[in-house]
Amino acid sequence: MNLKDYVANVPNFPKEGIQFKDITPLMADGEAYNFATSQMVEFAKAQNAELIVGPEARGFIFGCPVANELKIGFAPVRKPGKLPRETVSFNYDLEYGSNTLCMHKDAVKPGQRVLIVDDLLATGGTVEATIKIIEELGGIVVGCAFLIELVDLDGRKHLGNYDVFSLMQY
Ligand code: 5GP
Repeated sequence: MNLKDYVANVPNFPKEGIQFKDITPLMADGEAYNFATSQMVEFAKAQNAELIVGPEARGFIFGCPVANELKIGFAPVRKPGKLPRETVSFNYDLEYGSNTLCMHKDAVKPGQRVLIVDDLLATGGTVEATIKIIEELGGIVVGCAFLIELVDLDGRKHLGNYDVFSLMQY
């Protein structure tokens, strides 16, 4: 199966000059969606993951089926003000402005083996912030799995010491 057949390239979204990878056609096709998450499950098994962590919102779309298939837990990474209990947060710079991500303080157990799952690796800012939070909570990041990797943006430079898995490269 060629998963790229299920990704729509949308020019100038969300702003001029950006070509957005729309993954909703892949989610809409049961075979393609299952094929993609099955590959991530195999990676998670190989890394002996005990918990899946996914950034909102598309990290939920891929992370939850992986966690559910393995009968392990899923913990969300969210923007400020969304999680109801005490959180740990990390702030990182964007091209224009900055962004903050949060997790519940008890979302990761010390020593727990955590796999991060998201739809797309671009600059790596999101996953780097996620790693910082997991490690502050005492978790061990055993890898990062993405549906899509935008190779030219070199997000892997933030991930030198971690095992990175991606199903499609552009
Ligand atoms: P990064 O932090 O690596 O620069 O950006 C990755 C994050 O932005 C991911 O959480 C991803 O959902 C979102 N993202 C950035 N560009 C795209 C895109 O073209 N398509 C999709 N589906 N998500 C994107």
